[in-house]
Amino acid sequence: MSDGQHERYKEVFCSDCQTVLGRYSTKYFSDRDIDELVRIHHATHIKQGHMMTIRISGNV
Ligand SMILES: [Zn+2]
Repeated sequence: MSDGQHERYKEVFCSDCQTVLGRYSTKYFSDRDIDELVRIHHATHIKQGHMMTIRISGNV
């Protein structure tokens, strides 16, 4: 539900799995938060040495 305010998301993408692991609103999550969340929730990818990138998923 957006009231004219553009909400942007950051997508955490694992290039080894070719999967978007998560999407976080930039409104609520800072870069540091996202970094932290990735480390906690996607530790298995990190352990396996996967390459993860964070990319902006703008509103369309
Ligand atoms: Zn992965």
